[in-house]
Amino acid sequence: MSPPRPYLSKSRLISAWQCPKKLHLEKHHKDLAVITSQMESAFAGGHQVGDIAQQLYGTDQSVEVEFNFKTMVAETKRLIDNGADFPIFEATFRYENVLIRADVMIPEGDGWHIIEVKASTSVKDYHVLDCAIQDWVLRNSGINVLSISLAHINNQFVYQGDGNYDGLLLENDLTEAVRAMEYDVLELVAKAREAVSGPEPLIDVGPHCNKPYECQFISHCWPMDAQYPVTGLGGGKARLAEWVVAGYRDIRDVKRSEITAEQQLRIHRVTESGKAEVLPGAREILEALPYPRYYLDFETIGPAIPVWKGTRPYAALPIQWSCHIEEEGGEMRHEEFLDLSGEPPMWALAEQLIACLGETGPVLMYTSYEKTVINGLIEMFPDLAEPLAAIVNRLWDLHPLVKTHYYHPDMLGSWSVKAVLPCMAPHMDYSQLEGIKEGMAASDGFLEAIGSRAGRAPTVERKAELEEQLLRYCKFDTEAMVEIVRFLAPTT
Ligand code: SF4
Repeated sequence: MSPPRPYLSKSRLISAWQCPKKLHLEKHHKDLAVITSQMESAFAGGHQVGDIAQQLYGTDQSVEVEFNFKTMVAETKRLIDNGADFPIFEATFRYENVLIRADVMIPEGDGWHIIEVKASTSVKDYHVLDCAIQDWVLRNSGINVLSISLAHINNQFVYQGDGNYDGLLLENDLTEAVRAMEYDVLELVAKAREAVSGPEPLIDVGPHCNKPYECQFISHCWPMDAQYPVTGLGGGKARLAEWVVAGYRDIRDVKRSEITAEQQLRIHRVTESGKAEVLPGAREILEALPYPRYYLDFETIGPAIPVWKGTRPYAALPIQWSCHIEEEGGEMRHEEFLDLSGEPPMWALAEQLIACLGETGPVLMYTSYEKTVINGLIEMFPDLAEPLAAIVNRLWDLHPLVKTHYYHPDMLGSWSVKAVLPCMAPHMDYSQLEGIKEGMAASDGFLEAIGSRAGRAPTVERKAELEEQLLRYCKFDTEAMVEIVRFLAPTT
């Protein structure tokens, strides 16, 4: 008797396609996974797109098969056997112990049109494989699959308000491509079964650890327990992986002769020295900046499903800013903007920003993101173009100055404000913040606060908590810039 075939879902098969070891760990060592807020956010975004698809493809009669391991296959069979002639969402089928849930099934003549829904803005190669797995299970379960499409986000869609998302999804017919992949599906199923049933596959780390998805086992497979992990050398994943495979754990294990990139040589040299490198020149540059000085930071949202009329999917929309204003002599003021009413805040945000920033003085930012955001506001509000363009001309990016003049071994190859700050100002660290401590969490927190995340408004207490965290987080960003300037030019 042949051994029982291990259970596989479509997402497990895609894991095996990315890396069989990933699938093995998902099955046997879930405890080693580290789920980042980016992963959680992507998951939540995917769910929202799924909900919109049901709205777009649904009819008065359409049915969603409830997620329940014990009943969902039988419930689907019951619907089909009873001659369902309406759309079915999350219809569930099992063939050779491979389980799939079809996002959308639409009856057409004597067969079905299948639609897989993704939150991406184009068709990727693994989407075709995803659809091919479904097609294989469906057809072998007796379903007459007439066509199979992938629906993804149309990033040119402009939301007209009133909950009307017609045109948000673009369908691509993949039937032909999918049918050509049947053999690939069979091979993948065999590979996945081996990964699940056999010992942990011996797979080296490499670029596949981040493609197409960031793997949740990176902190397990990549050596992170050294004082200065090799990944801190930065640069391409392929070269880093070669060093890891060669047995190097710490940046200092890598021989200098093996490094060719200038930035990596610098990181290596400073890490070996064990001391921060502060190159001359930054102080003079900063001292020459006139007053008042403005330290500006935005938070933005970019949801797959537009929230406000006139906006597009994934468009980065500013929802908050913080500004520290430093006068000559050291006097410091703080102003901020945050509107959690749920109404589009961009116009008021821009107007109040113009008022806050006055007409003279450098506006310091960390990376050019603020410039991109203000240029976006100019496009959105031509009436404010002149004062906003004047602000753009005053923007002064602190990031290149820091990158040129400063490196500390603890920065582990990153010049992000979060990496730099604790090295320059050890009393300040983003990890001290309650709740929201990075941009994606701020975006999610904002959407939750305006009732756009879970489809319902938060409690008054939760909203107040989110407001406090959002304000604190954004203010911390501009405080951080002030600290960085004080470190590099202590007497300014
Ligand atoms: S981190 Fe890389 S090697 Fe490890 S399981 Fe994930 S994809 Fe595979």
